[in-house]
Amino acid sequence: MGNPKAFLTVPRQEAGYRPIHDRINDYSEVEQTLNTGERKLQASRCMDCGVPFCHWACPLGNRPPEFQDALSQGAWRKAYEILSRTNDFPEFTGRICPALCEKSCVLKLAIDAPVTIREDECAIIEAAFREGYVVPGRYERNGKYVAVIGSGPTGLAVANQLNKKGYDVTVFEREERIGGLLRYGIPNFKLGKSIIDRRLAIMKTEGVNFQVGTKIDLEHLPQGFDAYAICTGTPQARDLAIPGRDLSGIHFAMEMLSQQNRILAGDIVDTKDRITAHGKQVLVIGGGDTGSDCIGTAHRQGAVSVTQIEIMPQPPVGYNPETPWPQWPVVLKTSSSHEEGCVRRWSLNSNRFIGKNGRVTGVEVEEVEWIPASDGGRPTMKPTGKKEVIQADLVLLAMGFLRPQLPELPQNAVVAGDAATGPSLVVKCIASGRSAAEKIDQMLSVKG
Ligand SMILES: Cc1cc2nc3c(=O)[nH]c(=O)nc-3n(C[C@H](O)[C@H](O)[C@H](O)COP(=O)(O)OP(=O)(O)OC[C@H]3O[C@@H](n4cnc5c(N)ncnc54)[C@H](O)[C@@H]3O)c2cc1C
Ligand code: SF4
Repeated sequence: MGNPKAFLTVPRQEAGYRPIHDRINDYSEVEQTLNTGERKLQASRCMDCGVPFCHWACPLGNRPPEFQDALSQGAWRKAYEILSRTNDFPEFTGRICPALCEKSCVLKLAIDAPVTIREDECAIIEAAFREGYVVPGRYERNGKYVAVIGSGPTGLAVANQLNKKGYDVTVFEREERIGGLLRYGIPNFKLGKSIIDRRLAIMKTEGVNFQVGTKIDLEHLPQGFDAYAICTGTPQARDLAIPGRDLSGIHFAMEMLSQQNRILAGDIVDTKDRITAHGKQVLVIGGGDTGSDCIGTAHRQGAVSVTQIEIMPQPPVGYNPETPWPQWPVVLKTSSSHEEGCVRRWSLNSNRFIGKNGRVTGVEVEEVEWIPASDGGRPTMKPTGKKEVIQADLVLLAMGFLRPQLPELPQNAVVAGDAATGPSLVVKCIASGRSAAEKIDQMLSVKG
């Protein structure tokens, strides 16, 4: 522990976002960074608790007290070594992890000001790249071949782990670029794509083979491999089958988000296929993170107004007695995109889309009540009859993704990440990819 009393004397300091007027017209990352001295001070706030709940809450089992201790003393290389033992890609989680660890930090419970674990993690890996600590390794080949299908964070974690163990790994990706939702879902203002490319360059030098533009038929896996990791994610978005769904101007969130990311990567999109919020009243249906990313993207495209509606009631602000520490607190989340301006409404069900000349002009919504279940299960939705029309000429459906139906797979195939669990988080996918790699290694080691 760097300074046993720092948690009493040093307040939590977040780096914060770039000012709205500065960030709203570009797609560069919105988050700022602290200087080295401030970062070390933040790390020194870690109390090195006897029972570190942050280990338990992090799906990767990261060791924040250990790397905070090193960081607070300015031992950046040591901090990086500790961090990279449990996390293949701290540069992704350091930017976009919802920081499950921080919600279980004892300083969250005590003074509602946890250690800035996520930002510290990002600072450590960025220093490691800057200082040249992240260098490609050389791994002796063991003569066994593994195919990884899908190149999102899950597939990348499987590939990284198995490659280091000496397997000859090929990652097959149906899109023309590697990264899955890191590349085509998550907007650049949360995760700049050069961050993915920097890691891929290391993995390629270390020997991972990447084959893009190759859609694998899961019923006929490619020949010549000893094992397969199926990391194909959850490609199917949840639809809203209500009258008027076929009007133009209604899109799945991912259609807009991935198109915008492609344009930023230099792809040409025909004007007639362009989905843009420019000059439009935008309605986002779905109150989660994907919806929030649509809001930030719509602002940058020049929307006239943005409204986000959610069928569930508004969660409490700050503290929710139903999800006490150290559980993940289900409370109102305000993202950088929300801060940029947006009307947020809850307990609204969408009854029908309204249109003119084949184009959407609005959505009829109805207020609903949620009746708690006596057995503590899912509450029942009750329409109240209070209806209104929200005007919109671009509607984005951000209501989550369906768990995929996978065909029967051979015994030497392991399913991991979102494909196995349904939609989750990058940190959970990296953890799932690491355990899939472990399973494959055990399976192939037994076989000899
Ligand atoms: C808009 C959006 C924002 C998000 N923001 C966050 C966030 O801020 N923080 C966070 O932690 N999580 C976030 N998530 C969730 C996170 O991105 C996912 O949980 C994670 O990317 C899933 O990883 P994966 O590798 O399992 O699947 P994916 O990332 O979906 O990757 C699967 C890959 O498999 C490929 N593929 C599919 N089928 C085949 C096939 N037959 N042959 C070859 N390739 C195939 C796909 O093209 C894709 O590249 C967000 C998700 C979305 C949609
Ligand atoms: S990966 Fe996420 S949950 Fe784990 S230590 Fe980092 S910020 Fe916390």
